[in-house]
Amino acid sequence: MGKEKEIVVSGIRSTGILHLGNYFGAIRNYIRMQEEFNCYFFVADWHSLTTHPDPKALRGNVFRVLAENIASGLDPEKVILYVQSDIPEIAELYLMLNMMAYKGELEKVPTFKDKVRQNPDNVNAGLLTYPVLMSADILIHRGLKVPVGKDQEQHLEMSRNFAQRFNNRYGYLFPEPVPFNFGDDLIRIMSLDGNGKMSKSENQNATIYLNDTDDAIRNKIKKAKTDSGPQAPNSEKPDYIANLFTIMRLVSTPDTVRHFEDAFNNCSIRYGDMKKQLAEDMAAFIRPIREKAEAIEHDAAYLNRIMRMGAEKARESAAATLREARKLMGINFY
Ligand code: ATP
Ligand code: MG
Repeated sequence: MGKEKEIVVSGIRSTGILHLGNYFGAIRNYIRMQEEFNCYFFVADWHSLTTHPDPKALRGNVFRVLAENIASGLDPEKVILYVQSDIPEIAELYLMLNMMAYKGELEKVPTFKDKVRQNPDNVNAGLLTYPVLMSADILIHRGLKVPVGKDQEQHLEMSRNFAQRFNNRYGYLFPEPVPFNFGDDLIRIMSLDGNGKMSKSENQNATIYLNDTDDAIRNKIKKAKTDSGPQAPNSEKPDYIANLFTIMRLVSTPDTVRHFEDAFNNCSIRYGDMKKQLAEDMAAFIRPIREKAEAIEHDAAYLNRIMRMGAEKARESAAATLREARKLMGINFY
């Protein structure tokens, strides 16, 4: 018998249109992993409830995220693609893990502190326990590798802590999940105005979405933050310039990148030229995804079929883990 395939789990919140950060931090890895791993990818609709979305918009966003994943190249026949709320076992594991998560450590999480600062009137318990639900998402399939962007690194560290605590207290059940990116470091795409990361719910004028038209892309890139250029050869790049190069490396040819790297290093770079080239390469990259996603997102019958198929398989794996967890904890089991 061949070696068992490693288990991969990752999710995307149904909070809006996906952007370059979601693509390069998460989806690009999903597509590369679908051949050699046992992949569970899901739309995190429960996670999006922290901000009380309009129910009709939420359903549309779930469809949209599924469509964008498939349009980007994810094959629902090769991976298990499902919607989080179709798997009630995740909620039960979340309840169990909450008994192992301490208020103090949850309050210290930087993303939680940011949300409290941004929106002090909506500091709900779901927001505080976000990393616990995320841990349940992963541990329910005993996931080992988690393709995510840099912003999720600390949440994953907490998942390892919760897995370890469970294993120490009740007996071994969960491997400790690690973040994963093909290549090396985890990816963080900053917004084009240099303020924080690209995000579905913030900085929308400085975020490139997978449904942006060619003109929208040109406009956004044109307005990206730059400066008067390097003052000395081989200077270090300010982070907003480094971000433009990061993005260019993802969508342009190596020759194009080298050309502008050289121009930066010998101080001859004209950011207007770089942006024009980047905008064209970006538009060519996004166009086929946008067109395909638009067609798929309106095919409710197809998406419903995919969701049902994914839920059935994901529930099988989830139920098996939960049976073990209940047994180890002494909770009623049959
Ligand atoms: P929201 O603002 O609603 O939280 P988001 O853009 O942060 O939306 P998530 O659904 O939270 O998206 O994250 C989905 C995946 O995309 C995660 O793996 C996350 O690490 C990754 N990701 C999100 N933003 C970026 C970014 N700017 N750069 C790289 N990866 C990112
Ligand atoms: Mg997020």
